[in-house]
Amino acid sequence: MLKIKNLSFSYQKTPVLKAISFEVKQGENLAVIGESGSGKSTLLNLIYGEFDLINGQIFWKETEILGPKYNLVIGYDFMKYVSQEFDLMPFITVAENIGKHLSNFFPEEKKARTTELLEVVELSEFADIKVKTLSGGQKQRVALARAIAREPEIILLDEPFSHIDNFQKQSLRRRVFKYLKDNNITCIVATHDREDVLGFADRMIVLNNHQIAVNDSPEVLYNNPKTPLIASFFGEFNVIKNKIIYAHQIKLTEKSNLKATVIQSYFKGHYFLIEANLEAEKVFFQHHSTLEKNQTIYLKITA
Ligand code: ADP
Ligand code: MG
Repeated sequence: MLKIKNLSFSYQKTPVLKAISFEVKQGENLAVIGESGSGKSTLLNLIYGEFDLINGQIFWKETEILGPKYNLVIGYDFMKYVSQEFDLMPFITVAENIGKHLSNFFPEEKKARTTELLEVVELSEFADIKVKTLSGGQKQRVALARAIAREPEIILLDEPFSHIDNFQKQSLRRRVFKYLKDNNITCIVATHDREDVLGFADRMIVLNNHQIAVNDSPEVLYNNPKTPLIASFFGEFNVIKNKIIYAHQIKLTEKSNLKATVIQSYFKGHYFLIEANLEAEKVFFQHHSTLEKNQTIYLKITA
């Protein structure tokens, strides 16, 4: 398993990460979330051995991960990292990029494995296309396939689906995360997209103020978001009398002590998000239809 003990790091003087400790079991999927600039990519880089730690230790099983000061070559065979830049070889084909690290001694096996990987990332039709002509999303798929080609024990994914369009994201996510689970590959995914987390992550850590704010299962954090930052990850929410109330936990009612005035209705697909004024505060809730502007309404909290 991965063990991170009391890790601290800064690029210059200001600390980026302070006293970070957590563990990830073999085969577990851990999501690292946090606002832009909170240190998600830095944390993945450190786990990969890209930089020297200022303080702390990182272990994968018995192996201590060390930075460039102690290692001539960055990276370990058991670990793969798909960073936000993909580092592909532009002038060779998709299949050649994916097969780059597969042995040439067994051409049949190499071909079968490449075919399997192309299916995982849904790129079979593009096998013989040169990478330089691909879109950003397609390149991201090639990078994913190449990273899992030799079955690492642990994979680090930095916003792995950020370049993939919404038409293909859902099915690709399911395929990739299922592949990693089925093969017992430990996965750490840095993301700000809740869709990358819900249904896939066993646990999530939230980075805030250079530290780990919480480390728990998505279910526990969703059901009991301790701070607005955590709630905001899961969706639209309100703070009413110091309690965090999600937009879907507020309903219209006949009469109540929560009297509000409608400001606007936003179409959201299977519901409308209604923005209203509740005394001096803004309140957001879900409703099945639009509501008329300036209409007086009464609300109840159902949670
Ligand atoms: P995230 O991935 O959560 O958006 P990063 O890990 O990229 O956050 O960045 C964390 C902080 O470190 C930011 O303030 C960023 O500006 C800074 N930073 C990131 N990379 C470097 C670098 N190579 N040199 C100096 N500062 C950096
Ligand atoms: Mg980042």
